[in-house]
Amino acid sequence: MEEIINIPKIVLHIHLDGSVDEKLLYEWSKEDGFDFSFEEVRKKVQVEKSCKSLNQYLEKFDLPCRLLNSKERLKKASQELFLKLDREGVVYAEVRFAPLKHLNNNMSCEDAVEAVVLGMNEAISNSQIHGGIILCCMRNFSFEDNIKTVDLAKKYLNKGVIGVDLAGDESSYKTEKFKDVFSYAKRLNIPFTIHAGEADGVSSINSALSFGAKRIGHGIRAIDSKEMIQRLIDDDILLEICVSSNYQTEVVKGNHPIEYLIKKGVKVSINTDNDTVSNININSEYKYIIDNTNITIEDIKLSNYNAIDFIFASDIEKNRLKKIIG
Ligand SMILES: [Zn+2]
Repeated sequence: MEEIINIPKIVLHIHLDGSVDEKLLYEWSKEDGFDFSFEEVRKKVQVEKSCKSLNQYLEKFDLPCRLLNSKERLKKASQELFLKLDREGVVYAEVRFAPLKHLNNNMSCEDAVEAVVLGMNEAISNSQIHGGIILCCMRNFSFEDNIKTVDLAKKYLNKGVIGVDLAGDESSYKTEKFKDVFSYAKRLNIPFTIHAGEADGVSSINSALSFGAKRIGHGIRAIDSKEMIQRLIDDDILLEICVSSNYQTEVVKGNHPIEYLIKKGVKVSINTDNDTVSNININSEYKYIIDNTNITIEDIKLSNYNAIDFIFASDIEKNRLKKIIG
């Protein structure tokens, strides 16, 4: 495990609301008048073995989102997460969240973004980690709300925010419906990644690529099409792979496609998706992959190196990371 912890890591796919420390959630639930024991909080935010779908998995975000209802808490959650990742050997992390899920009478969407950026910046100044924040558009949100999220990203671009994403229920809300949201993001020169090919198929990945995405969240259904695999290689697309998450949402049963994808030459980055919901961390995820597939520690090191070219950051930052990881 020591060797795994010591690998300098790049994390590109992790959700803030799904990765809040359970002790913090328990503390905040008490403050907000809920009468949950620590175990009850854990049950509400951690996925059960019986989880059968992405939608059941997404239910685990209800309580964290409800509790992340002030600037102080969003800042604290962000700061703690970046510090935790730093302790796990992560040298660069892109943490994502949907600011519009945290609005209330005391908090505007600007407040939410500023709080998360502030938490990240405080963590960065007290550790070795670097990173940025990705703002998530949500599949179940209105067009107007997603445009608002893109506008927010523009407002804070290069001030802590580095890009946008599309998250949520992929099977009910098809990716192609979000064409105008991402053509708007493209017009504003905002980098983006899109969850696609997780709970929906190759056509979803096709839509995300046609919008101009260079990174795909999950994208594992690419294995259903040889043409798609070839397209990912030819167009130099990175898949943000989250193995445990895929098993828990049951979009993967049996062997995980990561091994096949790497063997075929598709670039992948290894991620956790949601540390608290899945009860994992990046090191346990690396260990799981090494123990259960033919992927080696050298393959993982290479995936980290390859991921650098896809981060939403300057060439100076990319070169800095290449020196650390190379
Ligand atoms: Zn995700």
